[in-house]
Amino acid sequence: MDLNLLAERLIPGEYPSLETFEKRYPLRDLPVGAQVTRLAPSPTGFIHLGNLFVAIANERIAHQSGGKLYLRIEDTDLKRKVEGAVEAVIAALKYFDIRFDEGAEIGGDETYAPWYQRQRAEIYRAYAKDLIRRGRAYPCFCTEEELSALRDEQMKQKQVTGYYGAYAKCRDLSEQEIFAALDAGKPFVIRLRSMGDASRKHTFRDEIKGEVTVPENDQDVVILKSDGIPTYHFAHAVDDHLMRTTLVIRGEEWLASLPIHLELFDVLGFPRPKYGHNCSLMKMDGGSKRKLSKRKDPELSLSFYRQEGYHPYAVKVYMLTLLNSDFEEWHRKFPEKKPEEFPFRLSKMSKSGALFDLDKLNDISKEELSARSPEEMLAFLKEWAFAFGAQKEQAYFADEAYLLQVLSLCMGVGGKKRRKDFVTAKQALAEIGYFFGGYVQKDAYRVDNAVRDAVLDGFLATYSAADDSQTWFSKVKAVAASLGFAAEMRDYKADPSAYKGSVADVAEVLRIAVTGRANSPDLWSIMHIFGEERTRARIAEARNRR
Ligand code: GLU
Repeated sequence: MDLNLLAERLIPGEYPSLETFEKRYPLRDLPVGAQVTRLAPSPTGFIHLGNLFVAIANERIAHQSGGKLYLRIEDTDLKRKVEGAVEAVIAALKYFDIRFDEGAEIGGDETYAPWYQRQRAEIYRAYAKDLIRRGRAYPCFCTEEELSALRDEQMKQKQVTGYYGAYAKCRDLSEQEIFAALDAGKPFVIRLRSMGDASRKHTFRDEIKGEVTVPENDQDVVILKSDGIPTYHFAHAVDDHLMRTTLVIRGEEWLASLPIHLELFDVLGFPRPKYGHNCSLMKMDGGSKRKLSKRKDPELSLSFYRQEGYHPYAVKVYMLTLLNSDFEEWHRKFPEKKPEEFPFRLSKMSKSGALFDLDKLNDISKEELSARSPEEMLAFLKEWAFAFGAQKEQAYFADEAYLLQVLSLCMGVGGKKRRKDFVTAKQALAEIGYFFGGYVQKDAYRVDNAVRDAVLDGFLATYSAADDSQTWFSKVKAVAASLGFAAEMRDYKADPSAYKGSVADVAEVLRIAVTGRANSPDLWSIMHIFGEERTRARIAEARNRR
């Protein structure tokens, strides 16, 4: 068969020589040991926690080694493409502080551009054409129906499914048959002519999983689809070679395709990159572990964290905790150090499945938010409120001096220990609602209305906004004593039956009247921030509530 003629017929036209591409995309000038990694999302509009997980690992390894991280958009599957998805991916990764050095919509060094696969069609075709000329790729005219019939047959016979060996009908078509089909205008794909033998296994070193044994590939996989667009497999080999990726970190769902990729790198004459296959994120469901699912688990989507108002730093800390189990201890020991200073290792990653737990993230979030300054907290809340909050929450920012006082108090700034009241921006804004007229009675009074009103009246009778906290408290004690409550805790403890309750119960009534809840930051301070008028109004309202 005249393979040059065939190649010309299948992929007509002049293409640059392969050496041209080698020169156009030269080896990167980086120090020894520097790793070039990438993130290669498909623009499907759904960017999830698994992407972030892989992104952080890629970012750490690249930058820790003095290498590069770039962003490539794998847009070969038009059916799955969603408008605005690229922008969404970039915005989400930026929010979580993933810093790319170059790539789609990032800019940076243009040497390895373009970063959209659709703009690289010429390159894939040139390599495919070369494979045809070398007899390592061929056209396949099988229709969808034929392929699905083949699959059914293989399943029935309990054979491995796919296009390989004797099942690869078009592998050995004669020149005449091929040209007749082409003349008849039959659509075709280009397949790899595999030389592998699936009964032969070889051991491969995965940077995350360690030694894995994989069979050789024997599948004649499609490399160019009928529209001339490459498959993931082919584009992966060509792009990761020419963009000079040294380490491919990707989800473990790709491990099964690794034999294909290894054969492709070999047949194309490309040195193989290193691979690290990242385990899936799991969660506990009932008593058993399962993979996070798009359908069942809203927390799989990155937009969930943005909408709920999780602090990106907290999410990052949690991701790192899951990625390298000794990160947590390191972070606790050196809270002031940046995560970038932590010695991140692929070999410390879980090989089987990281267990994601929202409660744990919430704990970390509390911890991280409590360590912010009130000013930082305000900026964080403001950003969220104006993106996702209600108008009434946006109004909290009209008087930032007042809001700062509220935040300082709720965060326990200046106290012995910081308070950990805040988990997310959404929850924090709901939590401080009572400072802004948004009174909601969350907790019930533990006294009846008559006692409640007696406490409130008693308090108002002597209340002065000018009182310091000690004077204020002695007045509360006086109210307690006048109504048959123990003014001193120790008296109450010594003989509870002698009292209606203690000063703590009286304070609780005041607290619920003012804040709507039985637990709050220091009540004197709250009243102090409120000021006299607002405090009196709040108590008067509570007095009338039935
Ligand atoms: N486009 C592939 C995906 O989104 C990329 C996999 C890879 O990183 O190679 O799953």
